[in-house]
Amino acid sequence: MIPRAIARWQSELAAALTRPEELLARLGLDPATLPIAPSPFPLRVPLAYVDRMRRCDREDPLLRQVLPVGEEHHLAPGFSRDPVGDLAAATTPGLLRKYRGRALLVVTGACPIHCRYCFRRHFPYREHAGEQAWDAALAAVAADGSVQEVILSGGDPLTLSDDRLAGLVQRVAAIPHVRRLRVHTRAPVALPSRVDEGFLSWLETCPLQTVVVLHANHPAEVDDAVSRATRELARTGVTLLNQAVLLRGVNDDARVLAELSDRLFQSRVLPYYLHQLDPVQGAAHFQVADDSARALLAALRERLPGYLVPRLVRELRGAPSKLPL
Ligand SMILES: *Cc1c(COP(=O)(O)O)cnc(C)c1O
Ligand code: SF4
Repeated sequence: MIPRAIARWQSELAAALTRPEELLARLGLDPATLPIAPSPFPLRVPLAYVDRMRRCDREDPLLRQVLPVGEEHHLAPGFSRDPVGDLAAATTPGLLRKYRGRALLVVTGACPIHCRYCFRRHFPYREHAGEQAWDAALAAVAADGSVQEVILSGGDPLTLSDDRLAGLVQRVAAIPHVRRLRVHTRAPVALPSRVDEGFLSWLETCPLQTVVVLHANHPAEVDDAVSRATRELARTGVTLLNQAVLLRGVNDDARVLAELSDRLFQSRVLPYYLHQLDPVQGAAHFQVADDSARALLAALRERLPGYLVPRLVRELRGAPSKLPL
């Protein structure tokens, strides 16, 4: 048997940086001048993303999203390891049920990039994610006729090979009451080479109506390669949306958020949600006060057409939907 060729994105993923010193050296920054601190949720960032950071700028908004710092070890009241009740929502391992009509499958624990504010940074993927959990999770979806939409999440579902993804989606599509597929992914932003010919041609033949929800927080994340990738995605006929997280020191600025919407729209992506930070342990230094968040949104409304203003929401455990602020 001839082994299948490794796709370019897979080698780029394998070459992602994991050592803060290496990242800082590439940016021309002296590690001694930055408050870096080791973390059980280690650094992970593809070079394609590093290339979008400004050199010699320790406050770069992309660097801030990925660099493990000492502030993460401060315990803040109200910040926990399971901030939005994911564990209680896992009615079957790997399957989260919170909202009517939708079921979310934690497909994998792997991500192309590690975001410091990630609300699942402490999630016990070992007990939930992976192919061994899919049988029971898909059986639960098949047994519940109210599920119209299956959401692939993680981790990042696009860290799966095209073959594994296609196999999974084929099984989802075989469930008669499932009408929509949603894929939540940061891969087209973190690693635009993931959107390659093989993936695009599979997406074109995908039997379910598909929504791809991207995750970009800052306009500098959407460079030409990312924009090309999302425009290619759009050509397959999928609906493209973006969710961002409001992050202090990254995008808590109306000009930055307006530019993000603008840049996304040029790339055929509509803004969907702007999330208030989920109170996950280790991310308190990213928090923006509710009043400031509301003021930012009001400023955005004055600058942008309505369809480019994201919905400002928060997730509260036990609530029947994401809640507008
Ligand atoms: C956020 C989320 C959804 C999707 O909610 P929408 O408001 O439809 O985007 C679905 N299931 C779970 C478990 C979620 O956390
Ligand atoms: S890509 Fe998404 S799931 Fe992965 S670390 Fe970032 S926010 Fe978390």
